[in-house]
Parts: sequence; structure tokens; C-alpha cells
Amino acid sequence: MATDRFVIIGGGPAGNTAASHAARLGAEVVLVESDIVGGTAHLRDCIPSKTMIATGGALTFAHRIAGMGLHHLEAEIDLAALRLRVEEIQRHLHDSVSQLLRSQGVRMIRGKGRLKGPHDVVVETDDGIEELSADAILLCTGSRARIPDWAEPDGERVLTTQQAYPPPELPSHLVVIGSGVTGVEFVHMFTSFGCKVTLIVSRQQVLPAKDPEVAAALENELLRRGVRLFKGARAESVRRSDEGVSVVCDDGRVARGSHALLAIGSIPNSEGLGLEDAGVEADRGGYVPINHHCQSNVAHIYAAGDLSGKLPLSSVASMQGRKVAEHVMGGHTRQHRHLDYEKAASAIFTEPEIADVGLAEAEAFAIGRKIRVTKVPFSANAKALINDQPRGFVKILSDPATGVVLGGSIVGRHAAELISVIALAVTCHLKVSDIVESVLVHPSLSESLADAAE
Ligand SMILES: Cc1cc2nc3c(=O)[nH]c(=O)nc-3n(C[C@H](O)[C@H](O)[C@H](O)COP(=O)(O)OP(=O)(O)OC[C@H]3O[C@@H](n4cnc5c(N)ncnc54)[C@H](O)[C@@H]3O)c2cc1C
Repeated sequence: MATDRFVIIGGGPAGNTAASHAARLGAEVVLVESDIVGGTAHLRDCIPSKTMIATGGALTFAHRIAGMGLHHLEAEIDLAALRLRVEEIQRHLHDSVSQLLRSQGVRMIRGKGRLKGPHDVVVETDDGIEELSADAILLCTGSRARIPDWAEPDGERVLTTQQAYPPPELPSHLVVIGSGVTGVEFVHMFTSFGCKVTLIVSRQQVLPAKDPEVAAALENELLRRGVRLFKGARAESVRRSDEGVSVVCDDGRVARGSHALLAIGSIPNSEGLGLEDAGVEADRGGYVPINHHCQSNVAHIYAAGDLSGKLPLSSVASMQGRKVAEHVMGGHTRQHRHLDYEKAASAIFTEPEIADVGLAEAEAFAIGRKIRVTKVPFSANAKALINDQPRGFVKILSDPATGVVLGGSIVGRHAAELISVIALAVTCHLKVSDIVESVLVHPSLSESLADAAE
């Protein structure tokens, strides 16, 4: 049964994609957003961090151009210009999403929404309270940075990620707490700007969830850049003085620097959302568990994006939003494919860039699955040599009996773009021979994909 009135709380990638797609399918859509349409985590974290990484990349490149037959170029960071650039890109993306939704007839309300009952949403706006009733509701309020009780971010010396785009001054020595994806991207960003960095790594490997070979490639680069790694250490307190910060770890070590940055994960924005008033269950962490249609335990109330506790990625949030819109409008009965989280591509925007999709080698080993692994280095690729970036590799995992591509990892320049080919192969059950037999551009980095598939 198609739904008429569809209310969405949260205008990030999950919410705005659901709104746009549902409107296209004919729903009457209301989108409630308390801050910025486009999403807090997305526009205030994901996009600024990538913008700053791009600037760091340009700076690194400017310093390296002598290797490409050019004279050395003097370049230095301009924090004020960088801040403007971040804001400009945010504004542009926000405007284009808002314009699209407006043109599709989506009603946008600026305010804080919450459930009042199974079919009722209350919105607190600057002008007062508005009450909405809905046939279907999507909760996609995202997440925010986790702030531990042993640190007090002040926006000056002890920073959250959102206070670092860019910070008021460039740290002379930044102590980054947390070595997951966010932590290592910040380490990469600030070393590109010329800052000294110490990284607190709670385990023995940076990126603990990643393929060890991939993590080792990044760790080598961090060491080459002079990053100090405090391995096997958990931060227990951050002390601030006029001169700087001291991060005390549980093994007694102390990392001293000019600034500290917290990158220790996120928590869902579920409190105050009225879940209990509508009978929606949350788990102990505050996430709203969902089934494969993104339905909560209340069938017409959906959850998507970071709130759903699945993969915390903008791309996944958008795809969930799309699937929710299809389900709400009855489209899933026609041509619907469930979202397979195992097949979501992801990337880490460091140097070398890292991207992967599908089955990982360590995972195949752990479950005893037979796989064929083929790997080629970029040092054998003409375009990588021309670009003066021959580091890294392409690795493809396939089924030895059928040749079907099961997964892959890429370490090296443009990995986040190149992984799309393997992602398509994994999603569409293509075989390694399908990649090998595609006539690719020469010279191009993609030729390494065909070589790895051979
Ligand atoms: C530093 C950092 C870098 C990242 N980089 C990447 C990346 O490179 N690639 C990637 O795919 N992902 C990245 N992510 C993750 C990505 O940003 C999130 O997974 C994504 O934004 C989740 O989308 P969402 O729609 O669930 O939530 P959000 O983008 O957070 O949007 C939720 C929206 O809901 C609104 N809201 C909250 N409560 C209410 C309420 N009660 N009423 C009304 N509105 C409300 C918020 O204001 C917000 O705008 C990064 C995250 C961080 C922290």
C-alpha cells in the first residue's frame, strides 16, 4: 500500500535522499531539519574534512613537483582562505540539495522534531510548535562525536573534529586520540599542513578493523612523515595548560603537544526523539535496530543513516534513504534489491588513499572460505609512474571455481574512484574475466584493475 503523508526527521544524506525519492514517487513529503539540510555529520564533518585533505594534498604536491621536472614551488597554508573555501563548498551543497527538494514539492520545516505517538510528530520551530500526522515516518537524526568524560573540548587547544575545520591556529604539534578512519584522516591532513603529530593507537595496528596489509601500508607512510605512534595505549585524561596539552595514557605514557584532537567515535542522536511515545525500541547504545527494509519494530516507522547503527557512511545513509522511499511507496514489490551492507565500498582519504569493498582476505581466512587472491603493484603501471605516484597496489579476491569477484582493496592514488569498478563487479556478480575483457584506457590507473583480475 502506498503512503501519502511521509514525515522525515533529519535532513542528512538519509533524510534528503528519502525525501527526494519519495516525492518523485508521488508522496506528500515533509522534511524536518533542526540545523542544515544536507546533514550535520555530512556537511559539517565529511565534506570539510575532505576539503581540507584536498588542500593538504595540493600543498604536498606543490612541495614535490621538483620530481616532475619543475622548479620547486613555494606554497603555504592560509587558514582564513581555507575556512572560506570550506564554508563556500558547504553552502553550495546545502543550496543545491534545498533547491532540488523545493522543486520536487518537499515541504521543509526548520525545527527540532520528535515523535508524539505512532503517527504523530511534533516540531519545535522558532515560531512555535507545529504538529504533523503521518502514514509513515523516517527517523534519521544522525550521530555526533563522542566526548569522553576525561576531556573537555574548548575549541582552542582541545578540539572535536568540528572545531578543526580548520582550527583557530595551526597546531605546532597535534596529539590525535583515536586511530580509526577519522583519526588517521586527521593525522594525514595535519601532517600535510606541516604539523608534527602524535597518534594514540589503542591497539597494535592503526585502522584496527582493516586488512593488516592495507593498514601496514598506511602506517609506513605515517612513520615516513615522522608521526609518533603511541601503540597499545588508551588516553585517560587530557590536561590543558597555557603552553599546550598533555594526554595521559593508561600505561603511564604522556603525549605532549600544542593541541589535542578527539576522534574516538560517535553516538546516535536518539535522545529526546520521543521513541518511547511511539513504542519504537532502541538498543543499549541508543541506536534504532532495523530490518532489511529499514523498518523499526513499529512497521511504519523507519530508521536510516547513523541512527540505525549500520555502517556510518554517507553513501550507505543515502542508499538506505532511497530504499525506505521505495518501501514506503510500495515500489519494493516491483524491482527492489535489498541493501547489502557487506557490499558497500568505503574509502580512507589518506596518502596513500585506501579503498575496499566486499570480502576481505582476513575475513575469508577466518571463515575458512577458499578464495583466489591476485595483487599487482602500481609501480608496474605507466600512468602511476607518469603521475610520480607509483606506491600502492590493487588486490582482487575472487571465487576460484567460478571466477566471480568477491571483493578487493586498493591502496594508492585515486583508490576511492578506482574501487567503483570492483564494487560494481561485486554487486552485479561479475567475473574476473569480465574485467579482463574490458578494453580500458591507456595509460590509466584502471589498467591495474585488469592486470589484478588476470
Ligand atoms: C569526520 C568525519 C568524516 C566523515 N567522512 C565521511 C566520508 O568521507 N564518506 C562517507 O561516506 N561518510 C563520512 N562520514 C560519515 C557520514 O558523515 C555519516 O555517516 C552521514 O552523515 C550520516 O548521515 P545521516 O543522514 O544519518 O546523518 P547526518 O548527516 O548527521 O544528518 C542528520 C541530520 O538530522 C538533524 N537532526 C538531528 N536531530 C534532529 C531533530 N530532533 N529534529 C530535526 N533534525 C534533527 C541534524 O541536524 C542533521 O542535519 C564522516 C563522518 C565524520 C564524523
